[in-house]
Amino acid sequence: MTARGKTRPCSRCQRNRSERFYTSPRGRVCATCRKKTRSQTAHEARVQRIYGLEPGEYEQLLEAQGGCAICGGTRRQRLSVDHCHRTGVVRGLLCRMCNGRLLTAARDNPEVLRAAARYLEDPPALRHLGPRLHQSKRTE
Ligand SMILES: [Zn+2]
Ligand SMILES: [Zn+2]
Repeated sequence: MTARGKTRPCSRCQRNRSERFYTSPRGRVCATCRKKTRSQTAHEARVQRIYGLEPGEYEQLLEAQGGCAICGGTRRQRLSVDHCHRTGVVRGLLCRMCNGRLLTAARDNPEVLRAAARYLEDPPALRHLGPRLHQSKRTE
């Protein structure tokens, strides 16, 4: 028997991982988990420094929100800490799309977003002209 294919469980993620994921034969936490812990620690320090969050507050807020505060998305990618550019006040955690695109396109203006919702729910072309179809949707 060779060492190849030998696996043991990681004490953090509980997955059975092959020997090459451990730093030593006695290592108990796999490389993936070690990396995750390191990046979490760095992220924690960063949000404390930049946004003035207390230790644990990012996680606390994330749990309270349950996902992106706008679309509810729970992608694997970490949510951004969104803040008001005028006052600097932290508003919440948002996914990249909502923070970087939705709010940017709406210029952080709630009225624009309310108007956008009304637009989608009651499209003016449909109301004034009736149904007109994008040509790619036309039946032959
Ligand atoms: Zn692990
Ligand atoms: Zn979102």
